[in-house]
Amino acid sequence: MKKPYQIISSAIAILLVTLVARVILKQPELLGWLSSIEPAGWIFNIDPAHLLIIFVLIGAGCLAAFISYFEYHGIGCQDGVVRRGPHESVVAITFDDGPNPIYTPQILDILKEKGVKATFFVVGLHVRKYPDIARRIVAEGHDIGNHTYTHKDLVPATRRMVLAQAHKTDQVIKRITGASSSLFRPPRGIFSSAVRRLLVDKEGYRLILWTVSSVDWRRVSPRAILRRISRHTRPGAILLFHDSGALIRREGASRDNTVEALPMVIDHLRAKGYEMVTISEMLRRLEEEEMEAAGIWEQA
Ligand SMILES: [Zn+2]
Repeated sequence: MKKPYQIISSAIAILLVTLVARVILKQPELLGWLSSIEPAGWIFNIDPAHLLIIFVLIGAGCLAAFISYFEYHGIGCQDGVVRRGPHESVVAITFDDGPNPIYTPQILDILKEKGVKATFFVVGLHVRKYPDIARRIVAEGHDIGNHTYTHKDLVPATRRMVLAQAHKTDQVIKRITGASSSLFRPPRGIFSSAVRRLLVDKEGYRLILWTVSSVDWRRVSPRAILRRISRHTRPGAILLFHDSGALIRREGASRDNTVEALPMVIDHLRAKGYEMVTISEMLRRLEEEEMEAAGIWEQA
């Protein structure tokens, strides 16, 4: 996931620098042998009117690469951000963007049949739209977490907007399910230091990201989902799936592949000796592990 984007971004950056150098210097011979090779020659002879279009396309490419990269890595300070659990044989399965009237009930059926508890990061508006499903998530013992009210990106956003997104979702979860949660997952995993300070330090949320993305939002096959999970899962991993959502809109994409992959993923994780727990349970064990480590440190 990471490497192709880095290669593409680097290639774009090199191209951009070459073009800028050409435009500023207007002397291709200054770039020596580079100007004599065919693709570069084409670049140097380009009509200036087309340059703008190329810059716009490159800009869009860079932006896409940037967003894709930070979807997995976050922006800014990482204090108080949870990306993984303790170093023991536990994993947490998490679902984003629901509830959804088609896929969430199927996922809940599978989890019930397999005896697994998971965590659902819900969109406030969807909780209001599908209250029965939200209630079912909580009634069946799963964790529920805040994923903003309208699946709004928190970068860029004003402080007021971030708080409104978080609080409105908390209120609707509480009103409909009776549950309250301090778990928060920013849409696309994008946050800034300012957002982290506001939500973690001031508001007391735990910012929960993930260790392994199933990339099910790309509509990859169930087998590909299983392969990715089995290749990347390590003790303490937080696994990301989607029970709703869509690439541009808030909901509407098919999650059939996620539903189909889930029983295979659960069986695979069990066979590997992993216990599947909710994020709250994982955080409890993580704290235990940290306290133990601190105890050992004090004794030493
Ligand atoms: Zn999301």
